Formats: sequence, structure tokens, C-alpha cells
Amino acid sequence: MDHHEIPDFSEMQDEDDAFGYSLRPETLSEFIGQEQAKEQLRIHIEAAKKRGDALEHVLLVSPPGLGKTTLAKIISNEIQSNFKQAIGPVMERLDLASTLTNLEHTDILFIDEIHGMKGHVQESLYPAMEDYQLDLTLGQGPASDVVQLQLKPFTLVGATTREGLLAGPFRDRFGIRIHLDYYEAEDLQQAIRINSAKLDINIEETAEYALARRSRGTMRIANKLLANVRDYAQVKGDGTLSLEVVEEALEFFGIDERGLNAQDSAYFQTLIEKFNGRAGLKALAVALSEDERTIAEVYEPYYIKEGFLALTPGGRVATDAAYAYFDYPVASQTSLFH
Ligand code: ADP
Repeated sequence: MDHHEIPDFSEMQDEDDAFGYSLRPETLSEFIGQEQAKEQLRIHIEAAKKRGDALEHVLLVSPPGLGKTTLAKIISNEIQSNFKQAIGPVMERLDLASTLTNLEHTDILFIDEIHGMKGHVQESLYPAMEDYQLDLTLGQGPASDVVQLQLKPFTLVGATTREGLLAGPFRDRFGIRIHLDYYEAEDLQQAIRINSAKLDINIEETAEYALARRSRGTMRIANKLLANVRDYAQVKGDGTLSLEVVEEALEFFGIDERGLNAQDSAYFQTLIEKFNGRAGLKALAVALSEDERTIAEVYEPYYIKEGFLALTPGGRVATDAAYAYFDYPVASQTSLFH
């Protein structure tokens, strides 16, 4: 594909295809949990529909796997508009321009990882978001010319795991900000029940709960665990997910009762043994041979939520709870103030 072509990622393989069946909820009422976020969206969608206007731009904020992409698609279903999808860090100005000029009235443009968009690409979005206008530079050097294009009123839905990295003026241009929290075990259990039924999996209620509790508050992980234990049960048993089989499978896959695995143990082992319980992100990333962003965006938010980790000006600090959970003697050096 030449790089001036519109990058259309809407045909990208859906992770739910791992099941050969789409598990994504398609309407707000099918979207489990996150009651406040849903109510907020319901109101804005209904008001925009009544006025016949495009919905205000929406910023979706959460750790990975909590439903940002799913919600963006739901918004477009609810307002019955087209859905275009792009990924922030790989977008160039020209890609953006051709995508924007092809949008119809009330269409949704979903940009994932919007915090990773290049600065000048972000800035070219400002007039588009504010006045549905796009300044396009034609040609190069002294012969270049700027033309102003009028766009159809559209809705930008941006998703980010790192809201803090968005420039203030950019963030301010989103009229609606939706924050998704980690899910309660009951919500995850409901998803596991619904998805098991869709996939014809026979599962015991206690087994649903066991999976939910190990899903780290994350819908994507609940779905993955369900897929993994189903495979295990089909090979090792008769396919039925009893509590016994599920616990056996989880042990086989190395997932403990808090949903933590070998990677998580390695994180805390490194932090506690190598760095005496306190380290900067860079040092940790090098010691673990892991990408800094993955550590900060994927792993650590859950550790913080579980009370295992504190972010302090002096670095990442393993809490007493982490020492206790990973079987280290709780020592006074875990104080946040030393
Ligand atoms: P994100 O974009 O935040 O990384 P996704 O929207 O891709 O997360 O969701 C990950 C998976 O979890 C998808 O398979 C989706 O079907 C499922 N999922 C997310 N949120 C919900 C929800 N509230 N109810 C049911 N399934 C959900």
C-alpha cells in the first residue's frame, strides 16, 4: 500500500475471532458494568440524536482491555453511523486528511492510542475538531498553497491508556470524557457466563467465579482465560468446565488466585531482590528486558490497584502487601518515606 492511501484498519482481524465468533457486545445495554460511563453516553447520544447533530468528540480513558474499542463501535451502532478506525502513532497528516474528508455527517472516527499521535498530526486535528475545517497544504516550497476544506460534522472518538501524555489543548477539545474502571468480579463473571453460552461451553457457576477472580479486573483477560481453560478441558477432560478442571487448568497455565503469573512474580522479584524494593521505570525495564511502556501501561496499573505497588517521586516502591504476597519478610525499608 502506498502511504497516501487511506489506512483503513476496520478490516483488521478482531481479537474475538480467536473464538471464530464475535463476542463483542454491540449495544450499550449489552455492554456489561461501567454503569456511570454508559449512562453518561446514553444521555449525550440521545441529545445529539434529538438535535440531529454529530455527537461531541469523546475521549475514552482506561488501561488496556477494558472496552474502549468496544464502546467506540457501540457508539457508532447506537447513532447508526459509519465507523472508521485508525491507530494514532502510525497516522500521517495526509492519511488523516483523506480519512477526514471521506467522513459523512455524524460518522465516527475512532483513533486508538491517541496519545501516540505525532504532534503535528495532532495539531492538524484542532480546526477539524473545533470547526470541522481542515487546512491542507498543496505543493511544496514557495509555490505551495493552503486550501481550507469544510468537513462534514463528525465525531472523533479517541482512546488512550495514558491520558497524561495528551497535550492540554488537545484534551480540551474532547467534549465528553469517559473513564473506564477495572471490572468487579461479578461483572466479569457475567461476561464469562454470557460468552460461555454463546460458545456452547458447559460451565459451573463456581468455575465462572474462579475465572472472574483471576481476570485482573479486565474483560480481555476474562475472555482469554475462558478460551485457554476451554482448550485444556477439551483435551484433558470432556470439555465441561467444572471448578476442579478450571482450577487444574489455571495451575497448569501458572495463574495464581489473584490472576498473577510468572511475569508478575519476576517483576516483584526484580524490584525487591535487585533494587531493594524501590526502582525507576528505566532500570526496571532494563533488568526485566521489557518495554517501558508495556510495564507502565499494562502491568503496573493493576499492581497499583491491588495495593502491591506505589508510584512515588523516588520511583516504584513495592508495598508491604507485595512483600507479604510474594513471601518476602516485610522489612522497614518498604516505608515510602525512607
Ligand atoms: P480496549 O480497547 O480498552 O483495549 P476492547 O474494547 O478491545 O478493549 O475489549 C477487549 C475485549 O473485552 C473484547 O473482546 C470485548 O468484546 C470485551 N469487552 C470489553 N468490555 C466489555 C463489556 N463491558 N462487556 C462485555 N465484553 C466486553
